[in-house]
Amino acid sequence: MSLFVGLDIGGTKFLVAAANEKGEIVHKIRRPTPLDLEQGLTLLHDMIDEVRQKQTLAGIGAAIGGPLDWEKGIVSPLHQPQWRNIPLKQIMQDKWQCSFAVDVDTNVAALAEFHQLQNRVSRFLYMTISTGVGGGLLTEGHLYRGTRGAHPEIGHQSIPFQCSFPERIECECGADYCIEALISGNGIRRIYQKPAEELNDDEWHEVAYNLGQSLRNMAALYTPDLIVLGGSVAVGGGERLVPRATDLMRSNLKIVPIPRVRLSQFAEVASLYGALLLAQKGSSALE
Ligand SMILES: [Zn+2]
Repeated sequence: MSLFVGLDIGGTKFLVAAANEKGEIVHKIRRPTPLDLEQGLTLLHDMIDEVRQKQTLAGIGAAIGGPLDWEKGIVSPLHQPQWRNIPLKQIMQDKWQCSFAVDVDTNVAALAEFHQLQNRVSRFLYMTISTGVGGGLLTEGHLYRGTRGAHPEIGHQSIPFQCSFPERIECECGADYCIEALISGNGIRRIYQKPAEELNDDEWHEVAYNLGQSLRNMAALYTPDLIVLGGSVAVGGGERLVPRATDLMRSNLKIVPIPRVRLSQFAEVASLYGALLLAQKGSSALE
């Protein structure tokens, strides 16, 4: 029996899982991300070796922070400073002698969310709100890519916002008033000086208003059928966040179709499931 392996290579943790031909996960492990590049690569190889349990590998798929070149499989994840221009595809293919496919984690998560929909939609947007804010857009099941393959960064749109502490709004990208600076886990900590799970109702109102403004922007620009919200802040906010944000979006969309908005079913493993999907389908799933 051969196995497929998915890698979710995050700035704080590595998640590695092996699945059988039916897509059922047979083994899954999680480790903290080492700072050092060589230690990181060695740990990934060790984790793959552990989950494969002496079986041969039919393919490996990976989700990692951008920027990256998905066709060449060269990665430079922003939040892992030692990983710059790393030929991950070459490294993995040389070591494991199987196909390897990689993309930005939010694209990979978007693929996973799309593939588990009961009813496929033609225009699909996935938005994740966790440490940062990002997303992936699918058109007829294909990932939308920008000029020269650029990944759209929906977390770095600016919006009209509500914030009790506007002097604390600061985006790590250096631009002004990005939605990521207002509603991400890191942004919430900077503004409200506590984690999202400790926000009071008034503070959730502000976060929901700001999310609603960005949903409105994306609905006006992309006109998707469905927007799925994932990530720990979105899932943790739940009823305090999503209905208010959706109401604000709806009341401000006058001449474009109003998309459905709902929470992810995957919680924090969407990227891992997407990586397993890539392991099975190979790079063609990214075209
Ligand atoms: Zn920004």
